[in-house]
Order: sequence, then structure tokens, then C-alpha cells
Amino acid sequence: VDLSIAPVNDVEGKIKGVIILFHDITNLKKLEKIRADFVANVSHELKTPLTSIKGFSETLLEGAMYSEEHLKKFLEIIRLESDRLHRLIQDLLHLSHIEQRKFQLKWEDVDIHNVIQNVLLLVDKKADEKHILIEADYDLSQAYIIKADSDRFQQMILNLVSNAIQYTPEQGKITISIQPWKNGKGYKVSVEDTGIGIKTSELPRIFERFYRIDKARSRSSGGTGLGLAIVKHLIEAHHGEIKVSSKEGQGSKFNLFLHIDPQTD
Ligand code: ADP
Repeated sequence: VDLSIAPVNDVEGKIKGVIILFHDITNLKKLEKIRADFVANVSHELKTPLTSIKGFSETLLEGAMYSEEHLKKFLEIIRLESDRLHRLIQDLLHLSHIEQRKFQLKWEDVDIHNVIQNVLLLVDKKADEKHILIEADYDLSQAYIIKADSDRFQQMILNLVSNAIQYTPEQGKITISIQPWKNGKGYKVSVEDTGIGIKTSELPRIFERFYRIDKARSRSSGGTGLGLAIVKHLIEAHHGEIKVSSKEGQGSKFNLFLHIDPQTD
């Protein structure tokens, strides 16, 4: 609570009372803390790859570059860490744009099936490497048209499918399904995996910026901890919703609820 006290004088200037104002600044403090945490997180996330790039380049300059084996190995690390830095900055800019509502959705007719096909092309190599089967569980001959921003919608599906691949061990399975929702006025698009799953107690937090259940695992696989925060903001901009159900050790299912016409619904 923020307290301010002021005297109340009578016409002769004598104090006849005081006014005490109590300001409830809980929300302000909360916002301040969120902002401070965010800055600390960003700094830390940027520092980690930079420290590694600096350290390995110094080691190379100090002589390690004369060993071809070291040269190749260290340059590879530097490249991977620069990629991560690049991804992190891109995700941060993306998120800050979304949060400041500095972007306008480009509403157009989008066929959900086409978007899923595009995403599958992008993740094909990664899924193959892990021998993960991705199955489309819906009528492929049908069109599933909604009004949406096609690029942003693709980003949402891409983030969910990339996570499903990321957090599913080799030989696992991912199922993408489309079902009618809201008496035919919307669709539920689900991405389900047979992966490591998420503890019930962690579920409410995974959409927070930088929240990762296993930091080391996410980092070593190139995660930025921003993917789900971006999805949540984008689905909300589409007036939709995201829900997740999961069982630790068995798998997760992320459901996107989308209106066919978000501007009127
Ligand atoms: P990251 O870049 O770490 O993947 P995200 O914001 O995409 O960041 O996800 C936040 C965290 O939620 C992840 O670090 C992971 O712990 C958890 N998570 C996300 N998707 C899945 C999934 N399909 N299975 C298990 N855990 C997941």
C-alpha cells in the first residue's frame, strides 16, 4: 500500500484534521515485478550463448585453431549458439510486437488443411531424424476454411508441432486432428504427441514467457522458452483459445479453438 498524509487546516490555519490516502498499488507492484523479471530473463538468455561464443572464439585464437579437430568442433558450437541467439532475438521482437499490438492481422480465408501441410513440409526432416510418425486424423478431401491471418496461424501450428517433435522420444507419434466446434461455427485443431508429457502442476505456467520445465533440455535443443507465449498471444488475437491436457510420461495434447469468422463471433 502507498500511503499519503495531508493536514486539513481551518480558516485560521490551525490543523483540524488529516487526510490519509491509502493507494492499493498491488497491481502496479506486480507489473513492475513482471517487467523486472522479464529484463532479468532476457539478459540471462542473451548472455548464455554470448558467453559461449566469446569463450570458444578466444580458445581458438589462443591456439586451439591449429588443431583441425578443435577448429571444426568449436566453430560448429559458435554457429549453433549464434543461431540460437538469432532465434531468441527474432522471437523476442515477434513477441514484443504482438504484446504492444503493433500488428494488424491480415484476415483472409485460410484452409486449415493447407496450413498443416505447409508446417509438415517444414518439420519433415526433424521428424524423420527422430523416426517420429506424424498422422493427419481428419477427412483430407474436405476444406476447413476459417477467417485468419495465414502466416500467424501457420506460426501457431508450427510452434505446437515443433514442440511435439521436440518433447517426444524417437519412434513416437504425433496426431494432428481437426474437429467441428461450437455447433459448426468453429474448429478445434489438436496436436497430440506420445512424448514426455507435462506434470499437472506445471500446466498453468508453460504459456509464460521463458518458462521451461527442464531448462537444460530446452536450451540444448535450441528452445527459447517463448514458443507457447507467442502461440497464446496469437490465438487470443484471433479471438480463439488454447487448452492443454497432458499426462507425465505419456504425452500431451494442445487444442486450438478457432472461430470460422472471428470478427463476428
Ligand atoms: P521451448 O522453447 O522451451 O520449447 P515453449 O514456450 O515452446 O518453449 O514451451 C515451454 C515449455 O513447455 C517447454 O520448455 C517444455 O518444458 C514444455 N512443453 C511445451 N510443449 C511440450 C510438449 N509437447 N510436451 C512436453 N512438454 C512441452
